[in-house]
Amino acid sequence: MERKNAWSKYTSEKDKKKVFKFGEEYRQFISECKTERECVEFFIAAAEKAGYKNLEDVIKSGKKLKAGDKVYAANKGKELAVFNIGTESLESGLNILGAHIDSPRMDLKQNPVYEDTDLALLDTHYYGGIKKYQWVTIPLALHGVLVKKSGEVVTVNVGEDPADPVFGISDLLIHLAADQMDKKGAKVVEGEDLNVIIGSIPAFDKKGEKEKEAVKKNVLKLLKDKYDIEEEDFISAEIEVVPAGPARDFGFDRSMILGYGHDDRVCAYPSFMALLNCKETLTKTACALLVDKEEIGSVGATGMQSRFFENTVAELYNCMGDYSEIKLRRALTNCKVLSSDVSAALDPTYASAFEKNNSAYLGRGLVFNKYTGARGKSGSNDASAEYVGEVRAIMDKDNVFWQTAELGKVDQGGGGTIAYIMGNYNMQVIDSGVAVLSMHAPCEIISKVDLYEALLGYEAFIKYA
Ligand code: MN
Ligand code: MN
Repeated sequence: MERKNAWSKYTSEKDKKKVFKFGEEYRQFISECKTERECVEFFIAAAEKAGYKNLEDVIKSGKKLKAGDKVYAANKGKELAVFNIGTESLESGLNILGAHIDSPRMDLKQNPVYEDTDLALLDTHYYGGIKKYQWVTIPLALHGVLVKKSGEVVTVNVGEDPADPVFGISDLLIHLAADQMDKKGAKVVEGEDLNVIIGSIPAFDKKGEKEKEAVKKNVLKLLKDKYDIEEEDFISAEIEVVPAGPARDFGFDRSMILGYGHDDRVCAYPSFMALLNCKETLTKTACALLVDKEEIGSVGATGMQSRFFENTVAELYNCMGDYSEIKLRRALTNCKVLSSDVSAALDPTYASAFEKNNSAYLGRGLVFNKYTGARGKSGSNDASAEYVGEVRAIMDKDNVFWQTAELGKVDQGGGGTIAYIMGNYNMQVIDSGVAVLSMHAPCEIISKVDLYEALLGYEAFIKYA
Protein backbone atom coordinates (compact mmCIF):
# COMPACT_ATOMS: atom_id res chain seq x y z
CA MET A 1 0.00 0.00 0.00
CA GLU A 2 1.40 3.37 -1.03
CA ARG A 3 0.43 6.71 0.50
CA LYS A 4 -0.31 9.64 -1.82
CA ASN A 5 1.98 12.63 -2.28
CA ALA A 6 0.53 15.53 -0.32
CA TRP A 7 1.23 18.12 -3.02
CA SER A 8 -1.68 16.52 -4.92
CA LYS A 9 -3.93 18.37 -2.51
CA TYR A 10 -2.48 21.76 -3.45
CA THR A 11 -2.62 21.99 -7.24
CA SER A 12 -4.31 25.42 -7.38
CA GLU A 13 -2.16 28.51 -6.83
CA LYS A 14 -4.51 29.63 -4.06
CA ASP A 15 -4.05 26.41 -2.08
CA LYS A 16 -0.31 26.28 -2.71
CA LYS A 17 -0.05 29.80 -1.29
CA LYS A 18 -1.26 28.60 2.13
CA VAL A 19 1.48 25.97 2.25
CA PHE A 20 4.15 28.44 1.23
CA LYS A 21 2.97 31.15 3.61
CA PHE A 22 3.17 28.85 6.62
CA GLY A 23 6.53 27.53 5.36
CA GLU A 24 7.89 31.06 5.19
CA GLU A 25 6.72 31.89 8.74
CA TYR A 26 8.42 28.73 9.95
CA ARG A 27 11.61 29.49 7.97
CA GLN A 28 11.87 32.85 9.70
CA PHE A 29 11.24 31.24 13.08
CA ILE A 30 14.05 28.68 12.75
CA SER A 31 16.39 31.31 11.35
CA GLU A 32 15.95 33.34 14.54
CA CYS A 33 15.45 30.70 17.21
CA LYS A 34 18.34 28.27 17.35
CA THR A 35 18.40 27.40 21.05
CA GLU A 36 15.76 26.15 23.46
CA ARG A 37 15.88 29.49 25.31
CA GLU A 38 15.29 31.45 22.09
CA CYS A 39 12.37 29.17 21.19
CA VAL A 40 10.74 29.62 24.60
CA GLU A 41 11.14 33.40 24.36
CA PHE A 42 9.60 33.43 20.88
CA PHE A 43 6.67 31.22 21.89
CA ILE A 44 5.93 33.22 25.04
CA ALA A 45 5.85 36.48 23.08
CA ALA A 46 3.52 34.94 20.46
CA ALA A 47 1.31 33.36 23.14
CA GLU A 48 0.96 36.62 25.09
CA LYS A 49 0.07 38.45 21.90
CA ALA A 50 -2.68 35.88 21.38
CA GLY A 51 -4.06 36.48 24.87
CA TYR A 52 -2.36 33.67 26.81
CA LYS A 53 -1.62 34.46 30.46
CA ASN A 54 1.35 33.34 32.53
CA LEU A 55 0.11 30.61 34.90
CA GLU A 56 2.39 32.00 37.62
CA ASP A 57 0.54 35.33 37.48
CA VAL A 58 -2.82 33.54 37.60
CA ILE A 59 -1.68 31.64 40.72
CA LYS A 60 -0.49 34.85 42.38
CA SER A 61 -3.68 36.72 41.57
CA GLY A 62 -5.84 33.94 43.03
CA LYS A 63 -8.12 34.18 40.00
CA LYS A 64 -9.98 31.03 38.94
CA LEU A 65 -9.50 29.52 35.50
CA LYS A 66 -12.45 28.39 33.38
CA ALA A 67 -13.25 26.99 29.94
CA GLY A 68 -11.89 29.16 27.15
CA ASP A 69 -9.04 30.53 29.28
CA LYS A 70 -5.54 30.32 27.83
CA VAL A 71 -2.40 30.02 29.91
CA TYR A 72 1.26 29.08 29.62
CA ALA A 73 3.88 27.84 32.06
CA ALA A 74 7.61 28.19 31.39
CA ASN A 75 10.25 26.10 33.11
CA LYS A 76 13.60 27.83 33.69
CA GLY A 77 13.43 29.50 30.29
CA LYS A 78 14.00 26.21 28.47
CA GLU A 79 10.70 24.35 28.50
CA LEU A 80 7.15 25.52 27.87
CA ALA A 81 3.63 24.18 28.35
CA VAL A 82 0.77 26.06 26.69
CA PHE A 83 -2.85 25.30 27.60
CA ASN A 84 -6.20 26.09 26.04
CA ILE A 85 -8.80 25.09 28.64
CA GLY A 86 -11.78 23.10 27.44
CA THR A 87 -15.34 22.78 28.72
CA GLU A 88 -14.93 19.23 30.06
CA SER A 89 -13.31 18.55 33.43
CA LEU A 90 -9.55 17.96 33.33
CA GLU A 91 -10.36 14.52 34.67
CA SER A 92 -11.32 13.41 31.17
CA GLY A 93 -7.74 14.07 30.13
CA LEU A 94 -5.89 16.59 27.99
CA ASN A 95 -5.06 16.40 24.30
CA ILE A 96 -1.33 16.97 24.23
CA LEU A 97 0.96 17.94 21.36
CA GLY A 98 4.48 17.16 22.59
CA ALA A 99 7.74 18.06 20.84
CA HIS A 100 11.27 19.07 21.77
CA ILE A 101 13.08 22.35 21.19
CA ASP A 102 16.70 21.33 21.85
CA SER A 103 18.83 20.38 18.83
CA PRO A 104 22.22 18.75 18.32
CA ARG A 105 25.06 21.26 18.56
CA MET A 106 28.31 22.01 20.39
CA ASP A 107 28.29 23.55 23.86
CA LEU A 108 31.25 25.53 25.23
CA LYS A 109 33.11 23.76 28.02
CA GLN A 110 33.21 25.54 31.38
CA ASN A 111 36.83 26.58 30.94
CA PRO A 112 36.75 27.04 27.18
CA VAL A 113 39.13 29.85 26.22
CA TYR A 114 42.73 28.97 25.31
CA GLU A 115 45.52 30.01 23.03
CA ASP A 116 47.60 27.81 20.78
CA THR A 117 50.14 28.89 18.15
CA ASP A 118 48.93 32.50 17.99
CA LEU A 119 45.26 31.55 17.68
CA ALA A 120 42.56 31.95 20.35
CA LEU A 121 40.15 29.03 20.50
CA LEU A 122 37.12 27.73 22.39
CA ASP A 123 36.92 24.16 23.64
CA THR A 124 33.53 22.47 23.10
CA HIS A 125 31.64 19.38 24.14
CA TYR A 126 29.10 18.26 21.57
CA TYR A 127 25.44 17.83 22.56
CA GLY A 128 23.36 15.03 21.06
CA GLY A 129 24.34 12.59 18.33
CA ILE A 130 26.40 14.18 15.57
CA LYS A 131 28.69 13.09 12.75
CA LYS A 132 31.56 15.25 13.97
CA TYR A 133 33.19 15.60 10.56
CA GLN A 134 30.11 17.53 9.32
CA TRP A 135 30.71 20.41 11.72
CA VAL A 136 34.14 21.58 10.50
CA THR A 137 34.78 24.32 7.90
CA ILE A 138 31.27 25.80 8.12
CA PRO A 139 30.37 29.24 9.48
CA LEU A 140 29.29 28.98 13.11
CA ALA A 141 27.47 31.35 15.47
CA LEU A 142 27.48 31.63 19.26
CA HIS A 143 24.11 31.80 21.03
CA GLY A 144 23.46 31.70 24.75
CA VAL A 145 23.86 33.25 28.14
CA LEU A 146 26.57 33.94 30.69
CA VAL A 147 25.51 34.46 34.28
CA LYS A 148 27.69 36.75 36.38
CA LYS A 149 28.23 36.28 40.11
CA SER A 150 25.81 39.15 40.67
CA GLY A 151 23.12 37.06 38.99
CA GLU A 152 23.05 39.34 35.96
CA VAL A 153 22.34 37.37 32.79
CA VAL A 154 24.30 38.42 29.70
CA THR A 155 22.78 37.31 26.41
CA VAL A 156 25.10 36.48 23.54
CA ASN A 157 24.13 36.13 19.88
CA VAL A 158 27.01 36.60 17.44
CA GLY A 159 27.22 35.37 13.86
CA GLU A 160 23.68 35.85 12.59
CA ASP A 161 23.64 39.50 11.50
CA PRO A 162 25.38 39.78 8.10
CA ALA A 163 27.58 42.45 9.70
CA ASP A 164 28.66 40.06 12.48
CA PRO A 165 31.81 37.98 12.33
CA VAL A 166 31.37 34.19 12.31
CA PHE A 167 33.46 31.46 13.90
CA GLY A 168 34.47 28.01 12.82
CA ILE A 169 36.42 24.78 13.20
CA SER A 170 39.36 24.04 10.92
CA ASP A 171 39.98 20.77 9.11
CA LEU A 172 43.23 19.29 7.86
CA LEU A 173 44.00 20.13 4.23
CA ILE A 174 43.54 17.22 1.80
CA HIS A 175 47.21 17.49 0.76
CA LEU A 176 48.33 16.33 4.21
CA ALA A 177 45.36 14.15 5.13
CA ALA A 178 46.70 10.74 4.09
CA ASP A 179 46.50 9.37 7.66
CA GLN A 180 43.18 11.07 8.43
CA MET A 181 41.50 9.75 5.28
CA ASP A 182 42.34 6.18 6.29
CA LYS A 183 40.45 6.57 9.61
CA LYS A 184 36.93 5.29 10.25
CA GLY A 185 34.16 7.92 9.88
CA ALA A 186 33.65 8.16 13.66
CA LYS A 187 37.35 9.04 14.10
CA VAL A 188 38.00 11.31 11.11
CA VAL A 189 37.21 14.27 13.36
CA GLU A 190 37.10 13.46 17.07
CA GLY A 191 35.25 15.21 19.89
CA GLU A 192 38.36 16.92 21.23
CA ASP A 193 39.09 18.31 17.75
CA LEU A 194 35.95 20.45 17.74
CA ASN A 195 37.81 23.62 18.67
CA VAL A 196 36.28 26.89 17.57
CA ILE A 197 38.69 29.59 16.35
CA ILE A 198 37.78 33.04 17.70
CA GLY A 199 40.75 35.35 17.13
CA SER A 200 44.34 35.89 15.96
CA ILE A 201 45.52 39.41 16.89
CA PRO A 202 47.89 39.47 19.89
CA ALA A 203 47.88 42.16 22.56
CA PHE A 204 51.17 44.09 22.80
CA ASP A 205 52.55 45.82 25.86
CA LYS A 206 53.72 49.46 25.88
CA LYS A 207 57.16 48.52 24.55
CA GLY A 208 55.53 46.74 21.63
CA GLU A 209 56.42 43.30 23.03
CA LYS A 210 53.93 40.46 22.65
CA GLU A 211 52.52 39.47 26.02
CA LYS A 212 52.09 35.89 27.26
CA GLU A 213 48.90 34.36 25.78
CA ALA A 214 48.51 37.64 23.97
CA VAL A 215 45.86 36.57 21.48
CA LYS A 216 43.64 35.13 24.19
CA LYS A 217 44.17 38.27 26.23
CA ASN A 218 43.14 40.44 23.32
CA VAL A 219 39.94 38.48 22.68
CA LEU A 220 39.04 38.57 26.38
CA LYS A 221 39.51 42.33 26.33
CA LEU A 222 37.10 42.61 23.40
CA LEU A 223 34.58 40.50 25.33
CA LYS A 224 35.08 42.67 28.41
CA ASP A 225 34.46 45.84 26.39
CA LYS A 226 31.40 44.48 24.58
CA TYR A 227 29.69 42.40 27.28
CA ASP A 228 31.46 43.40 30.50
CA ILE A 229 32.33 39.76 31.22
CA GLU A 230 35.42 38.09 32.68
CA GLU A 231 36.94 34.79 31.60
CA GLU A 232 35.58 33.27 34.81
CA ASP A 233 32.00 34.04 33.73
CA PHE A 234 32.21 31.19 31.19
CA ILE A 235 31.98 28.86 34.21
CA SER A 236 28.33 29.78 34.68
CA ALA A 237 27.30 29.98 31.05
CA GLU A 238 25.35 28.13 28.41
CA ILE A 239 26.83 29.10 25.08
CA GLU A 240 25.76 26.96 22.15
CA VAL A 241 27.78 26.77 18.94
CA VAL A 242 25.36 26.46 16.03
CA PRO A 243 25.50 26.87 12.24
CA ALA A 244 25.41 30.58 11.33
CA GLY A 245 22.93 32.18 8.98
CA PRO A 246 19.28 31.83 8.06
CA ALA A 247 17.43 28.76 6.81
CA ARG A 248 16.88 28.82 3.04
CA ASP A 249 14.26 27.73 0.55
CA PHE A 250 15.54 24.55 -1.08
CA GLY A 251 15.04 23.37 -4.67
CA PHE A 252 14.02 25.19 -7.88
CA ASP A 253 10.39 24.75 -6.86
CA ARG A 254 11.13 26.09 -3.35
CA SER A 255 9.21 23.12 -1.98
CA MET A 256 11.68 22.39 0.82
CA ILE A 257 13.58 24.23 3.55
CA LEU A 258 17.28 23.72 4.32
CA GLY A 259 18.18 24.78 7.81
CA TYR A 260 19.65 24.03 11.20
CA GLY A 261 17.59 22.28 13.87
CA HIS A 262 14.45 21.09 12.08
CA ASP A 263 14.82 18.32 14.68
CA ASP A 264 12.59 19.08 16.40
CA ARG A 265 11.45 22.65 15.86
CA VAL A 266 9.67 21.47 12.68
CA CYS A 267 7.26 19.66 15.02
CA ALA A 268 7.36 22.16 17.90
CA TYR A 269 6.34 25.09 15.69
CA PRO A 270 3.19 23.57 14.12
CA SER A 271 2.25 22.03 17.51
CA PHE A 272 2.35 25.46 19.10
CA MET A 273 0.65 27.15 16.12
CA ALA A 274 -2.16 24.57 16.13
CA LEU A 275 -3.05 25.75 19.64
CA LEU A 276 -2.69 29.41 18.76
CA ASN A 277 -4.83 29.04 15.63
CA CYS A 278 -7.63 27.42 17.60
CA LYS A 279 -10.29 30.11 17.99
CA GLU A 280 -13.29 28.10 19.23
CA THR A 281 -13.68 26.86 22.81
CA LEU A 282 -12.54 23.25 22.94
CA THR A 283 -14.29 20.38 24.69
CA LYS A 284 -11.11 18.84 26.06
CA THR A 285 -8.23 20.94 27.32
CA ALA A 286 -5.44 21.11 24.74
CA CYS A 287 -1.76 21.48 25.50
CA ALA A 288 1.39 22.09 23.49
CA LEU A 289 4.31 20.76 25.53
CA LEU A 290 7.71 21.86 24.26
CA VAL A 291 10.53 20.18 26.13
CA ASP A 292 14.30 20.44 26.39
CA LYS A 293 17.05 17.78 26.62
CA GLU A 294 15.45 15.19 24.32
CA GLU A 295 18.69 14.82 22.39
CA ILE A 296 20.53 13.67 25.50
CA GLY A 297 17.88 11.37 26.98
CA SER A 298 15.19 13.78 28.26
CA VAL A 299 17.13 14.21 31.49
CA GLY A 300 17.23 17.08 33.98
CA ALA A 301 14.69 19.56 35.27
CA THR A 302 13.69 20.78 31.81
CA GLY A 303 13.62 17.36 30.11
CA MET A 304 10.52 15.18 29.72
CA GLN A 305 11.55 13.00 32.66
CA SER A 306 11.13 15.99 35.00
CA ARG A 307 8.01 16.38 37.17
CA PHE A 308 7.41 19.80 35.62
CA PHE A 309 4.47 18.74 33.47
CA GLU A 310 2.74 16.77 36.20
CA ASN A 311 3.17 19.64 38.67
CA THR A 312 1.90 22.15 36.13
CA VAL A 313 -1.28 20.14 35.51
CA ALA A 314 -1.75 20.03 39.31
CA GLU A 315 -1.44 23.83 39.45
CA LEU A 316 -3.87 24.17 36.56
CA TYR A 317 -6.36 21.93 38.37
CA ASN A 318 -5.94 23.97 41.52
CA CYS A 319 -6.60 27.20 39.61
CA MET A 320 -9.85 25.66 38.40
CA GLY A 321 -10.83 25.22 42.05
CA ASP A 322 -11.24 21.50 41.71
CA TYR A 323 -7.91 19.90 42.60
CA SER A 324 -7.55 16.53 44.25
CA GLU A 325 -4.77 13.97 43.99
CA ILE A 326 -7.05 11.29 42.55
CA LYS A 327 -8.45 13.71 39.97
CA LEU A 328 -4.93 14.66 38.92
CA ARG A 329 -4.02 10.96 38.51
CA ARG A 330 -7.12 10.45 36.35
CA ALA A 331 -6.41 13.58 34.30
CA LEU A 332 -2.91 12.32 33.48
CA THR A 333 -4.05 8.77 32.73
CA ASN A 334 -6.76 9.99 30.37
CA CYS A 335 -4.44 12.17 28.28
CA LYS A 336 -4.04 11.52 24.59
CA VAL A 337 -0.71 12.48 23.07
CA LEU A 338 0.86 13.07 19.70
CA SER A 339 4.50 12.84 20.67
CA SER A 340 6.03 14.60 17.74
CA ASP A 341 9.59 14.20 16.63
CA VAL A 342 11.21 14.07 13.23
CA SER A 343 11.21 10.89 11.19
CA ALA A 344 13.97 9.78 8.83
CA ALA A 345 12.91 10.48 5.24
CA LEU A 346 13.89 7.81 2.75
CA ASP A 347 17.05 9.07 1.10
CA PRO A 348 17.36 7.70 -2.46
CA THR A 349 21.14 7.99 -2.26
CA TYR A 350 21.22 5.76 0.84
CA ALA A 351 18.12 3.70 0.13
CA SER A 352 19.77 0.52 1.40
CA ALA A 353 19.46 1.76 5.02
CA PHE A 354 15.66 1.89 4.66
CA GLU A 355 12.86 -0.56 3.99
CA LYS A 356 10.81 1.20 1.36
CA ASN A 357 7.34 -0.05 2.36
CA ASN A 358 7.75 1.21 5.93
CA SER A 359 9.70 4.43 5.48
CA ALA A 360 8.72 8.07 5.60
CA TYR A 361 8.82 9.95 2.30
CA LEU A 362 9.43 13.65 1.89
CA GLY A 363 6.13 15.14 0.69
CA ARG A 364 3.75 12.40 1.79
CA GLY A 365 2.46 14.21 4.86
CA LEU A 366 2.51 13.84 8.63
CA VAL A 367 4.32 10.68 9.75
CA PHE A 368 3.00 8.28 12.39
CA ASN A 369 5.33 5.74 13.97
CA LYS A 370 3.51 3.07 15.93
CA TYR A 371 6.90 2.37 17.46
CA THR A 372 10.46 3.62 17.20
CA GLY A 373 13.39 2.06 19.06
CA ALA A 374 16.29 -0.14 18.06
CA ARG A 375 17.07 -3.87 17.95
CA GLY A 376 13.67 -5.43 18.61
CA LYS A 377 11.89 -2.11 19.36
CA SER A 378 13.98 -1.49 22.49
CA GLY A 379 13.31 1.96 23.96
CA SER A 380 10.11 2.42 21.98
CA ASN A 381 6.64 3.42 23.14
CA ASP A 382 4.63 1.15 20.80
CA ALA A 383 1.17 2.70 20.58
CA SER A 384 -1.80 0.36 20.91
CA ALA A 385 -3.63 -0.67 17.74
CA GLU A 386 -6.81 0.88 19.17
CA TYR A 387 -5.16 4.26 19.61
CA VAL A 388 -3.58 4.12 16.13
CA GLY A 389 -7.06 3.40 14.77
CA GLU A 390 -8.46 6.43 16.59
CA VAL A 391 -5.71 8.72 15.32
CA ARG A 392 -6.20 7.46 11.74
CA ALA A 393 -9.88 8.30 11.93
CA ILE A 394 -9.15 11.80 13.30
CA MET A 395 -6.71 12.56 10.47
CA ASP A 396 -9.11 11.34 7.78
CA LYS A 397 -11.93 13.43 9.22
CA ASP A 398 -10.07 16.60 8.16
CA ASN A 399 -8.49 15.04 5.05
CA VAL A 400 -4.98 15.32 6.51
CA PHE A 401 -2.34 13.58 4.38
CA TRP A 402 -0.37 11.18 6.53
CA GLN A 403 1.92 8.18 6.26
CA THR A 404 3.38 5.55 8.55
CA ALA A 405 7.05 4.68 9.04
CA GLU A 406 9.78 3.03 11.04
CA LEU A 407 13.19 4.60 11.53
CA GLY A 408 15.13 2.73 8.84
CA LYS A 409 15.62 -0.98 8.38
CA VAL A 410 15.30 -3.44 11.26
CA ASP A 411 18.75 -3.90 12.89
CA GLN A 412 20.16 -0.89 11.03
CA GLY A 413 20.12 1.39 14.08
CA GLY A 414 17.28 3.35 15.64
CA GLY A 415 16.39 6.19 17.93
CA GLY A 416 14.21 7.27 20.84
CA THR A 417 11.75 10.05 21.60
CA ILE A 418 9.82 11.42 24.61
CA ALA A 419 6.84 9.13 23.86
CA TYR A 420 7.65 6.33 26.33
CA ILE A 421 8.07 8.82 29.20
CA MET A 422 4.54 10.13 28.65
CA GLY A 423 3.44 6.50 28.39
CA ASN A 424 4.69 6.07 31.97
CA TYR A 425 1.66 8.09 33.10
CA ASN A 426 -0.49 5.51 31.32
CA MET A 427 -1.37 8.09 28.67
CA GLN A 428 -2.27 7.04 25.13
CA VAL A 429 0.76 8.09 23.08
CA ILE A 430 1.85 7.75 19.48
CA ASP A 431 5.02 9.00 17.83
CA SER A 432 4.33 11.35 14.97
CA GLY A 433 6.16 14.08 13.15
CA VAL A 434 7.72 15.45 10.02
CA ALA A 435 10.16 13.59 7.75
CA VAL A 436 13.69 14.99 7.53
CA LEU A 437 16.62 14.39 5.18
CA SER A 438 20.15 14.56 6.67
CA MET A 439 18.83 14.39 10.25
CA HIS A 440 21.28 15.78 12.86
CA ALA A 441 23.50 17.35 10.19
CA PRO A 442 24.25 21.10 10.50
CA CYS A 443 21.70 21.67 7.72
CA GLU A 444 18.68 19.40 7.57
CA ILE A 445 15.97 19.33 4.87
CA ILE A 446 12.19 19.21 5.25
CA SER A 447 9.26 19.56 2.86
CA LYS A 448 6.92 22.53 3.26
CA VAL A 449 3.90 20.38 2.49
CA ASP A 450 4.78 17.95 5.30
CA LEU A 451 5.08 20.88 7.69
CA TYR A 452 1.65 22.13 6.60
CA GLU A 453 0.02 18.70 6.90
CA ALA A 454 1.52 18.47 10.40
CA LEU A 455 -0.22 21.74 11.31
CA LEU A 456 -3.53 20.45 9.92
CA GLY A 457 -3.07 17.11 11.69
CA TYR A 458 -2.35 18.78 15.03
CA GLU A 459 -5.35 21.08 14.62
CA ALA A 460 -7.57 18.06 13.93
CA PHE A 461 -6.15 16.20 16.93
CA ILE A 462 -6.93 18.91 19.47
CA LYS A 463 -10.45 19.25 18.07
CA TYR A 464 -11.44 15.60 17.84
CA ALA A 465 -9.28 13.45 20.15
MN1 MN B 1 17.27 14.14 17.29
MN1 MN C 1 14.20 14.73 17.82
